[in-house]
Formats: sequence, C-alpha cells, structure tokens
Amino acid sequence: MECFDCSEQGHRAASVAICQDCGAALCGEHVTAVEHLPHRVAGMGRATPPAPARRMTCHTCRRARRLA
Ligand SMILES: [Zn+2]
Ligand SMILES: [Zn+2]
Repeated sequence: MECFDCSEQGHRAASVAICQDCGAALCGEHVTAVEHLPHRVAGMGRATPPAPARRMTCHTCRRARRLA
C-alpha cells in the first residue's frame, strides 16, 4: 500500500504502518507511535508497572485526539 497522506500531497511513498484510528496507510514520515498505557489492574502484588503498549496513529488523528 501507499501512504495516504503522501498521496493527498501528490507524491507517493510506500506505507510502513496503518493508523489505528482511521485506517489510513502511512509512510514512516507520517506515522507517529504513541505510548498507550493499559488500564491499571486493581490488585496487590504487582511490583512493576505494566509496559506501555504502542499505538500507531496518523498526524491528523493524533491532533484530533489531543483536542478531544
Ligand atoms: Zn507519507
Ligand atoms: Zn488516522
């Protein structure tokens, strides 16, 4: 697949990831990996916090999320 954002700007680039919010294919320049902490599990005995998960998102969705 090709990057959606690049094709909108009139050039072509191979996609490396898919935005998990809008489903657009994205090149390395247009994708952002955001840390996404899973909900804390209530309970005792957990010494280390869970590792953050990763979400791939496009710049448009990232901006929308920040404004929300
Ligand atoms: Zn791109
Ligand atoms: Zn998106």
